[in-house]
Amino acid sequence: MNGKSRADDGFVGGRKPVGERLRLRAPAKLNLHLEVLRKRHDGYHEIETVLQAVQLFDTLEVTLDEQWLGRAPEIAIEVGGPVRGVPADETNLCWRAARLFCEKQHVSGRLRLALQKEIPAAAGLGGGSSDAAAVLVACNRLFGTRLDPVDLEKMGAELGADVPFFVRGGTMLGRGIGTILTPLPTVHNCQFLIIKPALNLNTSEVYGRLNLGLTVQSPKASIAVIKPILARFPQKTWPGFNRLEDVVLPGQPGLQRLVLDLRETAVLAMLSGSGSAVFGVFPADRDLAQIAGGYSEAGLFVRVVGPHPGGVEIMDD
Ligand code: ATP
Repeated sequence: MNGKSRADDGFVGGRKPVGERLRLRAPAKLNLHLEVLRKRHDGYHEIETVLQAVQLFDTLEVTLDEQWLGRAPEIAIEVGGPVRGVPADETNLCWRAARLFCEKQHVSGRLRLALQKEIPAAAGLGGGSSDAAAVLVACNRLFGTRLDPVDLEKMGAELGADVPFFVRGGTMLGRGIGTILTPLPTVHNCQFLIIKPALNLNTSEVYGRLNLGLTVQSPKASIAVIKPILARFPQKTWPGFNRLEDVVLPGQPGLQRLVLDLRETAVLAMLSGSGSAVFGVFPADRDLAQIAGGYSEAGLFVRVVGPHPGGVEIMDD
């Protein structure tokens, strides 16, 4: 602890009533580029990726009813919203994030998490990771622990490779297993048409199908190269691609057709992460109502969203 008397902190008999609630929004991400460099001996893959936060949000309410000392936290979670099949138990990344935060920061109490899912799961849109980052940000505020974003990112990396990105979000270059982040200029003047068919893909299975051996490819996406290209985004000559398309699309003709179809109208189109969501990039002033309407009539999840310049946000601020 910090040497301060607990009585000064408002604890009486090891307990302190709090009753504070925060509302947050947690954005989805798209990968504007994803190269897999090599498989490490520990089974993880080293990647080089350009991550972009987008304005498709889950919302989360985190309530700290009471703080206490010397015993495990009680964490309750409920999940609502249009996206089905997300676990409302200890396997939810939100629950695990709350638990990890308490362990690492030596704080405890009764926490209630209410998650509204709008980001499709198992889609390569990073929804679960973003929710986890939102819980870390909320706990940091509610427990008054004052960790800086880099500390929260480090903690997030213990939950998943995509979690750190969502602390600051915007546009970032991700290296290592995706957790070594360098901010890039935020993209403007574009919108994204995101389409998710009724097909769930498992990230580790997709990576497992890559045949890279242990050879090391040299990184190509240096900041010096990316910055000037990103300033002109979106352009047909964008050199980004998604290496995972090589293993996902050949086995999924429907998804392949969707990407090719989008490429007819969009400036660029690709799979996001390990899929199954795909996205097309369009100029910001293009009216996409008709194109989007066509896909949603076919029963697909469809959203038209802009880039989001930040990461998870506390909405009450
Ligand atoms: P990634 O690209 O990081 O694998 P994703 O967008 O493909 O992410 P998620 O939305 O994070 O996938 O969900 C992956 C799985 O994790 C789901 O199938 C679900 O069972 C589980 N999960 C646990 N917590 C959550 C959460 N808060 N939101 C969504 N899924 C969750």
